Amino acid sequence: MLYLAPAAVAAWLLPYGLGGYTMHVVDVAVIFAVLAIGLGLTMGVAGQINLAQVAFFGIGAYTVAILTTKTGLGFWPAAVLAVVASIVAGLLVGIPALRMQSHYLGIVTLGLALGFINWVTNAEIAGRAEGISDIPVPPLFGIDLSSGYLYYYLELVVFVLALAFALFVTRSPLGRRLRAMRDDDLAAGALGAEIPLLRMTAFVLSGLYGGIAGVLYAGLIQFVAPETFNIGNMFLLLAMVIIGGRASVIGCVVGALGLAFVREALLDVSAFAQLGYGVIVVLVVVFFPKGLAGLPAQVFRRKRAERPRLSPFIPYDEAPAVEAQTVLEIDQITKRFKGLIALQDISLSVPAGQIRGIVGPNGSGKTTLFNVISGFYTPTAGRVRLAGTFVTGAAPYRLSLKGVARTFQNLRLFEDLTVRDNILVAADRTRTSWIWRYLALPWTVSTYDRGLRSRADDVLGRFGLTGFADVVPRSLPYGIQRRIEIARAMAMRPSLLLLDEPAAGLNGDEVRQLAEIVRSIRDSGVTVVVIEHNMGLVMSLCDHVTVLSGGRVIADGTPDEVAVDPRVVEAYLGDSMAAPTEDDTDREAEHEHADR
Ligand code: ADP
Ligand code: MG
Repeated sequence: MLYLAPAAVAAWLLPYGLGGYTMHVVDVAVIFAVLAIGLGLTMGVAGQINLAQVAFFGIGAYTVAILTTKTGLGFWPAAVLAVVASIVAGLLVGIPALRMQSHYLGIVTLGLALGFINWVTNAEIAGRAEGISDIPVPPLFGIDLSSGYLYYYLELVVFVLALAFALFVTRSPLGRRLRAMRDDDLAAGALGAEIPLLRMTAFVLSGLYGGIAGVLYAGLIQFVAPETFNIGNMFLLLAMVIIGGRASVIGCVVGALGLAFVREALLDVSAFAQLGYGVIVVLVVVFFPKGLAGLPAQVFRRKRAERPRLSPFIPYDEAPAVEAQTVLEIDQITKRFKGLIALQDISLSVPAGQIRGIVGPNGSGKTTLFNVISGFYTPTAGRVRLAGTFVTGAAPYRLSLKGVARTFQNLRLFEDLTVRDNILVAADRTRTSWIWRYLALPWTVSTYDRGLRSRADDVLGRFGLTGFADVVPRSLPYGIQRRIEIARAMAMRPSLLLLDEPAAGLNGDEVRQLAEIVRSIRDSGVTVVVIEHNMGLVMSLCDHVTVLSGGRVIADGTPDEVAVDPRVVEAYLGDSMAAPTEDDTDREAEHEHADR
């Protein structure tokens, strides 16, 4: 925050030394900065590839132009409608994001942007290729905004508000959920994030910033024409965001301001300049994927102190014994994948406060069962009941908010979020519709976030992870990552915890710690269902074991009972006789599609 005061003073004094033309260049650069913030939020923070930002910009500018010149509406009412129009456009462009991601989404949004530009170029009301001139100067308490110097201060106020709001969003629960969605939308869903609404939110933000930039542009230039909103400028905008560092709001601003000036300097050789931007973008993507914003960390990363250590787990307080009620009831679940029957007529019920083991050879349907319980798959037939209510086919985020937490066989931590942020995403139990508060009651968001942070600190402390709070999980040993995943699940304060092979890849000592952790979780009143291959662990940990084989329940009982069941012995003998190499490839293949 220290750099803010000098930056504010410099921004305020800037116009005093500038000539009229340079002032104009600065005015345009600030507009690009607002646009870049919007693009950074959607693309860098939320991970939604959006190549339509320049179209939102155009919709904002053209709406103001048309409303002020053709209907006689005042500038400011037209501006409000323009921003609304851009947001609506954002929603429309965002719809495909519900069904597709990554480069497909890029292509679709680009197509929509091109469609818009063509449509405008040919529309009578938009003045065809000539565009619209004579847009009125925005009136503001008698200040003459036709002066580029005074207009700069209007822009500065809008820019500061836009920047502050973007920083507020990225550093709050919504921003964390957006980043979590970017890193792993399935895991984010399982932690309570409503993915479709979040994707739309990202595009709404894009539309909002695009619209505001469009309004500022129309007021500044008082003229709009199609070429301002062409692919060349979309590319420039993309270059600004990528070079600056798309995941960092400040990076986007720096990239936008920097490149806007570079573009101006290279106006005489603009064809070569385009090529130059292209080369720089490629170099940045390859060598500095985080852009300019990532440079300080790359330069200073060596001065890290010694590696923190994992502290011991602090057991939960024991919950008083309550009358046993059925927490999870699975009634004749069948799950088919095209020809393959992964689960067939599975029924089981798990009473509160139990540790239930699910065992069975690879491919017997254990993970599929978890995917059904946690809402990743809708069963082909059968019903799931959670504490008495039917939840069959409910979306993962709903189940998460109802108290179902899970971990994944092949770890799904958010790799670009710190350990603390991973925990914070899970601790957030709000619905996405809660985000109206960001506009209406922003201070309540801050209060809520403070509460989340203290809860996350408790969880980190309990799981002995405080020393790792500010690093990204990728840098940590596997055993610690496994523990983070359990901590993250417990940060949701679930009533039912599903653990998918939590001991896979752990050493003997870590397995013992795991058993201690799981017992304490059970004693705190959480029901635990655990898929596990380590038979020693299953025998010592579980109160009750269900054995699956070929998608069916073949045995069910206490660990001692199932261990001697002839069908279980047979199923396991069959499994262990498979050639080990084949077994391994089998498991790799399973990792590929598991949880998808
Ligand atoms: P386990 O966890 O017991 O090792 P899984 O539940 O992962 O087994 O898989 C059970 C069977 O269902 C396997 O044959 C697997 O190939 C198949 N399967 C699981 N998920 C899918 C999917 N999304 N599409 C097709 N087949 C799947
Ligand atoms: Mg599995």
